[in-house]
Amino acid sequence: MAALNVSGLKKRYGDSDVVAGLSFAVEPGTCFGLLGPNGAGKTTTLRLCLGLTAPDAGDITLAGRAIPADAQVARAKVGVVPQFDNLDPDFTCAENLLVFGRYFGLKDADVRQRIPALLEFASLTSKADARIATLSGGMKRRLTLARALVADPDIVFLDEPTTGLDPQARHLIWERLKKLKSAGKTLILTTHFMDEAERLCDRLIVIDHGRKIAEGSPRELIATHIEPQVVEVFDEAAGTLPAFVDAHRQLAERVEQSGETAFFYCRDPQPLLAALAGADGLRYVHRASNLEDVFIKLTGRELRD
Ligand code: ADP
Repeated sequence: MAALNVSGLKKRYGDSDVVAGLSFAVEPGTCFGLLGPNGAGKTTTLRLCLGLTAPDAGDITLAGRAIPADAQVARAKVGVVPQFDNLDPDFTCAENLLVFGRYFGLKDADVRQRIPALLEFASLTSKADARIATLSGGMKRRLTLARALVADPDIVFLDEPTTGLDPQARHLIWERLKKLKSAGKTLILTTHFMDEAERLCDRLIVIDHGRKIAEGSPRELIATHIEPQVVEVFDEAAGTLPAFVDAHRQLAERVEQSGETAFFYCRDPQPLLAALAGADGLRYVHRASNLEDVFIKLTGRELRD
């Protein structure tokens, strides 16, 4: 049985179809990614799945329970890491875990027993009695993650878990999420970071305007949607790039331009690399295609605010 099953989900706000007939299933013990540009409907989808918003149409089963009808029962098996930390600033780290346990109907004595392990998981053992205001952004995120685990859930929802963190703090969160997956938890994740999705997700969907536009493992999506190699060419002497692109367009399957950079998507980059070796005023990077290239191809380069 899927940990989460969503079928024909719809939600309308005003005259806008924010979720427009979405279907997907999340297998237990896997990490599932929900990707999409700003306004694509990711947070609304998470809220619908948790029973925090009522759908206009569609079926949701979470932890074997129908949502929203049985949301309260399902949520006992579910932890949530919200987009913005909402820790209680008046309490210490340990007290935040204790108070949160009460929302799940847990006895203080049981939570107290779990606190050392939760703090250790979050690398916050030495901060047990520290106030929230004294924690760094990364520490707050880790405490929010530990808090989501207070009732030992089977499924954890994470809404942009590493937004605003520095690289070291992100790596620590990734390591902890991998540990949770190894322990058999199901992770459902939204993120703007394609490297994060590529590292963590077994499967993912890309949504835009409330619709699913791609689904698969990161590797499958890269193999299906995009040429395997990219050469990014940068203009170093203004005006050199357009002429180079015009003259060498046919050496790539696809060329995209964005400001002072041209992206040549190729199956065989060697002829292009040979041409670049003799080109003045240009700098280039040759790399394998990644999930970000797929995302940009599917959702476009225009800014979404
Ligand atoms: P994402 O998480 O992908 O950025 P959201 O689900 O937050 O997208 O939002 C999708 C769209 O739905 C946005 O245009 C947003 O303004 C709109 N929206 C979200 N929640 C509400 C609400 N409660 N009332 C009206 N519009 C909303």
